[in-house]
Formats: sequence, C-alpha cells, structure tokens
Amino acid sequence: MTEVKTFDVQKLRADFPILAREVHGKPLVYLDNGASAQKPRCVIDSIRNTYEREYANVHRAAHELSAICTDKFEQARRSVQRFLNAPEDREVIFVRGTTEAINLVAQAWGRSSLKAGDEIVITAMEHHSNIVPWQMLCEQTGAKLRVAPMDQTGTLIFDEYLKLLNPRTRLVSVVHVSNALGTINPVKRMAAAAHQHGALVLVDGAQAAPHMRIDVQDLGVDFYAFSGHKAFGPSGIGALWGRAEVLEAMPPWHGGGEMIESVSFAKTTYAKIPHKFEAGTPSIADTIAMGVALEYLMEIGFDAMQAYEHELLEYATAQLSAIEGLRIIGTSADKAGVISFVLEGIHAADAGMILDEQGIAVRVGQHCAEPVMDFFKVPATIRASFAFYNTRAEVDALVKGIHKVKELFA
Ligand code: PMP
Repeated sequence: MTEVKTFDVQKLRADFPILAREVHGKPLVYLDNGASAQKPRCVIDSIRNTYEREYANVHRAAHELSAICTDKFEQARRSVQRFLNAPEDREVIFVRGTTEAINLVAQAWGRSSLKAGDEIVITAMEHHSNIVPWQMLCEQTGAKLRVAPMDQTGTLIFDEYLKLLNPRTRLVSVVHVSNALGTINPVKRMAAAAHQHGALVLVDGAQAAPHMRIDVQDLGVDFYAFSGHKAFGPSGIGALWGRAEVLEAMPPWHGGGEMIESVSFAKTTYAKIPHKFEAGTPSIADTIAMGVALEYLMEIGFDAMQAYEHELLEYATAQLSAIEGLRIIGTSADKAGVISFVLEGIHAADAGMILDEQGIAVRVGQHCAEPVMDFFKVPATIRASFAFYNTRAEVDALVKGIHKVKELFA
C-alpha cells in the first residue's frame, strides 16, 4: 500500500495530452481503456520523429535512414522481450495485434499439427478473437473445440477445466484477463495442468499485459499475445511471443518478402524466426513507438501501477454497488480494473449516450464476448475499464453520471 501513496497520478496524467481535453463541454473522463488506451507524449513524439527525421524501410537498404529504422525496430523487439521476460528476442514476432497473433498460431501451428479428433480447450469467457480462429481451424482439420465453464461470479471452474484435459488435448488457449468481466485467470496453474497432457498453451494477454507484470517464463506458457494499442502504444501493431523450439517447428503463415532465405521457381526456403513469420513491410513507425510505450510502462513499474489500479477498482466497485438497480456482471475474487454492469430497466446504449453527453467515455454492448452475455442472460453491459491514469474523482463523475441516467430513464 505504501507504493500507492508514492504513485503520482497527476504527474502521469500530464504525460497524456488528450486527457486535458473536453468532450461536449465537459472534462473528458476516459473509462474505455479496455477497448483502447490513450497515448503518452513519448509515443506520439516517437511516431512524429520517425516520419519527420528517420523514416525508411527496414532490413533492406544499405543507407543511413534504413539502418537507423532497422536498429530501432529491432530495439522494439528487445523491449517486448524485456516486457514479457522472454528468454530470447527472436521469439518475439510482430503482428497487427492479439487477433492476428491468435490467427497466426491457429493457421501456422494448428493446420499443420492437428488432425480429426484432436481437441482445443478454451474457456467460457473468451473474446471472439479467441473463439472464432479455433472454430475455423476445427472446420479445417476436424478437431474439436471444448469449453471450460465458469460460475456465476465469472470465475473459471478449475475442476471442470481439469476434467476436459486428456491425451487428445493439443492446445489450451485462454484469456489472461477477461475484457467483459475483469476476471484474472490462473494461467500458471492452467498451463502446468495442460502440459501434463502434452498440450501447448496460448495466452490471450490483450487485457493483462497493459496492467500487470507478465513473465512468460514464470507462467510456463508456450505463446503469449498482446496488442500495442491497449498498452498505450499505436494501433495496428502487437506481438506474439512463442517458445523458440515451438516457433521453429511451425511452418510459415503468410508468404512474401522478408520471410524467405532464398526463392526460386523450383523451391523456396524460409528465413529463421522471427522473420519467417513477418512477411512484407511491417508497420515500422508503430512498432518503434510500441517499444517506446512498453519502456514507458516498465519505467512506471508494474508493482506500483497494479496496486494503484487495484485500489481504484475496489473504490469503484464499492461506489457502483451502492447504486440501487445496478448489478455488476463479473464479481470474481481475482479481478483487474474492469467493471461491467447493467442498470435495471435501462438499455445500455441509452446509458452510454447520456454518459457521453457528460464527457464520460465507457463502452456499451457485448464487448466481442457474446457467449459471456448469453451466460449472464443480458443483452449488453455498460463497461468501465480503468488505466493507471484514472482517478477517484473520475469514478465519482461516473457515479454522478449514472444517477443522471437513472433520473432520465427510470
Ligand atoms: N482478446 C481480448 C481479451 C480483448 O479484449 C481484445 C480486444 N478487445 C482482443 C483479444 C482483440 O484485440 P485486437 O482487437 O487488438 O486484436
């Protein structure tokens, strides 16, 4: 708790120019970090610097600007390596985001490894990005998708998960933090159990990586995916980490420039990892800026940040719970800074509109997690998702905003 006191949120807020703006004449209260987070000035400056002073294609030309960009691009790979505590930088593959990372594994690993009757295990709280790629793969290979259930608090039922594991299980793909519920899954224990059956483990870290220290070696997983834009970096860029021996054994996914060793019409041989999985010109300025964002997060420090966000979550949970007719969806004991809720007799979309008029940005809808909505028998929720730059005063503004919604619609 002492760390919370030393966490200077106002100083950090000053790093984010957009937080100073008004929306509809009201100070912006940005509580939609789960959808995408705002960018600190160092990230904005990095993009500007690349295009104003250093831009050229990477890995190709023998000239100064290309050398600078290549150097910074590879530096970003090392930032991701440190960010995830990955053993080697060549295990980091740049992709467009979590969605592309999961599709890469499904298609490159899955299509070449799975046969009819094999099984893939996910959980009942996955984002569509960690459902649909596996359904597509199952259609292509005849493999079967199995779903580990959760309870009414939105917590994985661990014993039921264990019961699904068997020698046919080839992969467990699990969300680290649920975007719709905030639940933190026990990924380390899940991975240990999956490995006992010889299955690989992929973690969808889209909502976890921006908010907690990730150590892929300690978690003992095989793949970890996250998106730059939720981690205070640019959109359209993210990373897939995979254990070197697993990546090396996988065939490439996209074919094209950059991913080859030599090409002839008779035969093409592929580059080594990570380049084998990075066909085509990458998003150069965005990759470099994502590296800057991750360095910025590491500089703040995850212990202090996590403690601060947890305290904010507890405060917001208490404040929101006190509102009559408000029901929180997702009340797991182990949660990150996401609060999904419904208001009795009020459509989520109406609530979102009234909150927006007050400068409060939340997400309303199904959060790309339709099965979660079905499980809780709600058509949609209102979701406030926090970042380290949010404050108690912003939680108070949200509470005031919800009272206004109730006045207008109840
Ligand atoms: N998984 C989870 C848990 C998410 O919250 C998201 C984004 N909402 C994704 C995957 C997909 O991320 P992206 O759209 O950046 O590919």
